[in-house]
Amino acid sequence: MLNEERLRDLLLDLITTDSHSRKEREVALKLKAIMESLGATVEIDGAGEAVGGNTGNVICRLPATDSAAPPIFLAAHMDTVVPGEGVKPIIEGTIIRSDGTTVLGGDDKSGCAIIVEICRVMHEQNLPHGGIEAVFTICEEVGLLGAKQLDIKTLKSTYGLVLDSDDVGYLFTQAPAADHMEWTIYGLEAHAAMAPDKGISAIKIAGEALAKMKLGRIDQETVANIGFIQGGGPTNVVPNKVVLRGEARSLKIEKLEAQTRHMDECFREAAAKYEVEVGGVRRKAHVESHIEREYDKMDVDVNSPLVKLVVQAAHNLNLSVEPMPMMGGCDANVLNGKGLLCANLGTGMRAIHTVNEWLDLRDLYRSASIVLEIVRLNATVGVAV
Ligand SMILES: [Zn+2]
Repeated sequence: MLNEERLRDLLLDLITTDSHSRKEREVALKLKAIMESLGATVEIDGAGEAVGGNTGNVICRLPATDSAAPPIFLAAHMDTVVPGEGVKPIIEGTIIRSDGTTVLGGDDKSGCAIIVEICRVMHEQNLPHGGIEAVFTICEEVGLLGAKQLDIKTLKSTYGLVLDSDDVGYLFTQAPAADHMEWTIYGLEAHAAMAPDKGISAIKIAGEALAKMKLGRIDQETVANIGFIQGGGPTNVVPNKVVLRGEARSLKIEKLEAQTRHMDECFREAAAKYEVEVGGVRRKAHVESHIEREYDKMDVDVNSPLVKLVVQAAHNLNLSVEPMPMMGGCDANVLNGKGLLCANLGTGMRAIHTVNEWLDLRDLYRSASIVLEIVRLNATVGVAV
């Protein structure tokens, strides 16, 4: 049913076409041209202008061939992480890897290629379906920006799949919500030798806060990290400013909020201990925080009709797909947050975000055959949402 050679060739074509985040235009135009040749109507939305990129999301609608069947969407992102330009794939048997100087870009061009192959098969074999909406997003890797800009009112389907994870045997149904945080700690500048008691060290405050802060794996559902710290200057000056950035993620919103609050309080409590009197004026340290919800959680019921559809489709092919939680965020978080129902199915990409990234074509073909069966099965049974 699938044309494996065609799928492999498209994957190779896409991974050798540069598409760092905000520079996805060439990939976008390739996907647009192929989808139009299948009779899809294709729109490139305004997401590129909104986020400073050279193209928007590519939204393709393959018209229904069976008006009684429900529509479904399939989504993947076009952008890759750095270093991802000038990819030279090395093929050994069924394994494709990069030459070790770049990522491979199977994240997420494997997802893009699978979606196109499914549309090609449905089209050329004239298989009945209720409309397939292929959504190729931009800027997933830099904060899910394309998905955030997507206007879901332009979609007919209310459920679907994101193809953007590794193991083909897993359907990721849960993913954490995440908070992004930035703190600026303000101390007070003074000569470190002549007047150290007239200064407040922002570095010392940061150190005290961090020593008390719970970071890393907080529990089975919650993680936290401080990933950036910058401040200070010459060694003979009491430093008056430190900037820190961090994040927390949890599968439970209450736990996320508690962790974020804890991190913020560590800085505030440490700063509150410091004040000095300079020229009769009391000067206090203080902290400015910027905390924002980076993305919503994904929490698809494992007993939902969508999960049943995926599990049944795999079963029909004598394969198994198991629902699983993941700790990463992806477009599926944003799309669920916007009210669509979707989960994230594996495509075979491995060791992603590293120059050791690789992919086994047998996994890619297996994933594509499951997605094809999902789309075929959906046309007959649908998902009650
Ligand atoms: Zn990805």
